[in-house]
Amino acid sequence: MAKTFDVGIESLGSNGASQEAGHQVVGRPAGAGGLLPLPLRGGRDGDAAVTPAATTGKSFFLETFGCQMNDHDSEKVAGVLQGRGYHAVESPAQADLVLYNTCSIREKAAQKVFARLGDWKTLADGKIIGVLGCLAQQEGEEIFERAPWVSLVCGSASYRKLPELIAQLESGGRRVTGLDLDTDETFETELTRRDNLLRAYITIIEGCDYACSYCVVPHTRGPERSRASDAVLAEARRLADAGYTEIQLLGQTVNSYRDPSPLGWKFVDLLRAVAAVPGIRRVRFTTSHPNDFHRSIVDAIDEVPELCDHVHLPVQSGSTRVLREMLRAYTREEYLQKIEWIRAARRPISITSDIIVGFPGETEADFAETLSLLDTAKYDAIFSFKYSPRPNTSAMHMPDAIPEEEKSRRLAVLNERQRAIQIAANEKLVGQSYEVLVDGCHPARTQWGGRTSCNRLINFTSPHVNLLGEYVQVKITRAGPNSFAGEHVT
Ligand code: SAM
Ligand code: SF4
Repeated sequence: MAKTFDVGIESLGSNGASQEAGHQVVGRPAGAGGLLPLPLRGGRDGDAAVTPAATTGKSFFLETFGCQMNDHDSEKVAGVLQGRGYHAVESPAQADLVLYNTCSIREKAAQKVFARLGDWKTLADGKIIGVLGCLAQQEGEEIFERAPWVSLVCGSASYRKLPELIAQLESGGRRVTGLDLDTDETFETELTRRDNLLRAYITIIEGCDYACSYCVVPHTRGPERSRASDAVLAEARRLADAGYTEIQLLGQTVNSYRDPSPLGWKFVDLLRAVAAVPGIRRVRFTTSHPNDFHRSIVDAIDEVPELCDHVHLPVQSGSTRVLREMLRAYTREEYLQKIEWIRAARRPISITSDIIVGFPGETEADFAETLSLLDTAKYDAIFSFKYSPRPNTSAMHMPDAIPEEEKSRRLAVLNERQRAIQIAANEKLVGQSYEVLVDGCHPARTQWGGRTSCNRLINFTSPHVNLLGEYVQVKITRAGPNSFAGEHVT
């Protein structure tokens, strides 16, 4: 479960991110690297008001696949279990209850989960095996057919039912499911286990009302539901009281937020209010949909120092024709207009994006438009993906599928172009100083690592000890494509 940084000082220049996963670095550390992350909070209650129930001796193991929303859902699921007296264990072999919180955004992610389930074919005896999240919602009771040793299948829109489902299993239930999508509730828990000591996540909106033709999310996470602003702010205050200084607001389309309370706040109102919570020094948000990205968000970042200077604004394709086929609801020009607003801000705001290559019918000319968009947008990093046909999506049966080898070729070309952009841009930052929140260390090498407000990863040396969790000034001495080396300015 522990996450590591992608690159230590000694390995600068290599891309620690996997091409297969399509992940580059900004936004989500990936792969094995030099530095150790902070120790996990492991069962500590991030919600100061609530005390876990007395332990019952029952144990659980929870593995999470996919996005930050899944990570945070798992923190809440762990909270629900701890509230019922379960304790977390390090390996599935030790656990009474083994849960997989799954992702089905691409086929590979789904296959990985079925491989994990296969491990239990002859070993599940006496254990409860459960599948949560997107794959659970997508496959439903089919999972019982493919893996009859599974007892629990529950999609994220039904997590409110989890305590009830677990109670049914505890009293001998053999197969229980939570697969409703028609709930207008969000997943609130009395207890949330916080696995990151420094950055606390708050989901402000669940589900998605867009219908991008390639995407399973509306099917797996259900329609959009926003949380009331007073509940979000109360959580932010509790987190600040518990010592957090950085909050990340989450949603599949976080900026489509609409306060369901009579206040009727828009996303930007909530953003400003969370940033004003005493003790909070950094507020991040992901993922923004370009269609709901308004200039007022850039103005807020310019005006409010606590709002981090980083926007993740997925474009998916640089071709308006492909964007139309994807049902993305904006053109290349409209998207680039928003990039211009961000680049024109007084603060230098870093911009990252998601890009899909090999969407059905994507021609060489379409792909060339995506490459030229990279040159114009000059992203600080991208997450790049080969299009993966998914069930229950309208693109699934589109004609003119692009062959796998061609998708791989385009992905490699795209990543190469982006890498050159990052190398050139990052070189220019050598000599500059940034405030870094220290979130990792390598004791043997007395190296530290942390993120700037713009989410750049800097590994640095310092004569000081005990820097974890501190905000320090770091001067960049060397630049790699995905991260930097520096020294503590004391
Ligand atoms: N809501 C976000 C948005 O609208 O940009 C995206 C959330 S989605 C969980 C994360 C990313 O996965 C997408 O931005 C897209 O690039 C990628 N993705 C989604 N479906 C995909 C598919 N079928 N094949 C390849 N990549 C996909
Ligand atoms: Fe998927 Fe599109 Fe919704 Fe993002 S906006 S979650 S890509 S359907």
